[in-house]
Amino acid sequence: MMDPGTVALAVAIGEARRRLQTVAGDCAGLEASLLLGRVSGLNRAAQLASPELPLTASVLNAFRHLVDQRDLGNPIAHLLGEREFWGLTLEVTPAVLIPRPETELLVETALRTLPRDASVDILELGTGSGAIAVALAVERPAWRIIATDVSTPALAVSRRNIDRHGADNVTLRQGDWFAAAGDERFDAVVSNPPYIAARDPHLRRGDLRFEPEEALAAGQDGLAALRQIVAAAPAHLKPGGWLILEHGYDQQPAVGGLLHDAGFNEVGCLSDLAGQPRCTIARFGEATA
Ligand code: SAM
Ligand code: GLN
Repeated sequence: MMDPGTVALAVAIGEARRRLQTVAGDCAGLEASLLLGRVSGLNRAAQLASPELPLTASVLNAFRHLVDQRDLGNPIAHLLGEREFWGLTLEVTPAVLIPRPETELLVETALRTLPRDASVDILELGTGSGAIAVALAVERPAWRIIATDVSTPALAVSRRNIDRHGADNVTLRQGDWFAAAGDERFDAVVSNPPYIAARDPHLRRGDLRFEPEEALAAGQDGLAALRQIVAAAPAHLKPGGWLILEHGYDQQPAVGGLLHDAGFNEVGCLSDLAGQPRCTIARFGEATA
């Protein structure tokens, strides 16, 4: 007989699922299970196998606290402290952008464009959690990657993600865009910069409310960071070097225009899994080899 003061696992999950319906919709059950996993150490399979398991008071209290936090809108990635990107589990805190699935397109584009086994020099601007740099580093141990951010708290998170995945071919630098790169030249510069217009109402909705504004917003039209990066990139690329950028679904014409004005050629645009133009690649000058 269960103590009348205790609550069975399935009952607690059911209660949480109902609480999370508004914030999480169809994902309410999954989110409830992930949050219980975080406090109990039981994965989803173990939970399904033991619906009658009585939860201890401390697990139940910790679970209900997380459910309350989620109900207030806190991103699930913040409550779990991690997010999957490119098949890698990355630490996520409120100091960094939560890595987005569409950013895997930028990783894929870099992997397809640059030679696999050569000692390619890559610069990533605005690394945040380190998602892009770590994914590239793990896939291409021969590449040398410098990853930068202006935010010191963000760099502390990317440091831990680099260490967690043994990505010792990544070097971190702090600084404002290319200022962190000195006068080195690279085979490729990659970036997912902030690209949302400062007054876009999306910044006040959903997960975005809890993410750093400097990771998301870029001036009146959302193009401020992209403009700066494109204009300065030629001075930091080797002849024939590539610039690979993520941008908003409606920014491709503007980004294409910036690249053209800065003297780039071989401009190509790729769409994400939702069919939105999301990543633009361009080449500076002719390759010498
Ligand atoms: N690369 C990560 C990703 O794709 O998930 C994070 C991208 S987030 C959209 C943009 C990043 O650029 C943030 O980490 C932010 O701190 C950084 N950033 C903003 N302004 C910057 C600047 N002036 N110089 C360098 N990094 C900057
Ligand atoms: N793709 C993100 C979003 O719309 C924005 C990321 C960015 O500004 N680079 O939520």
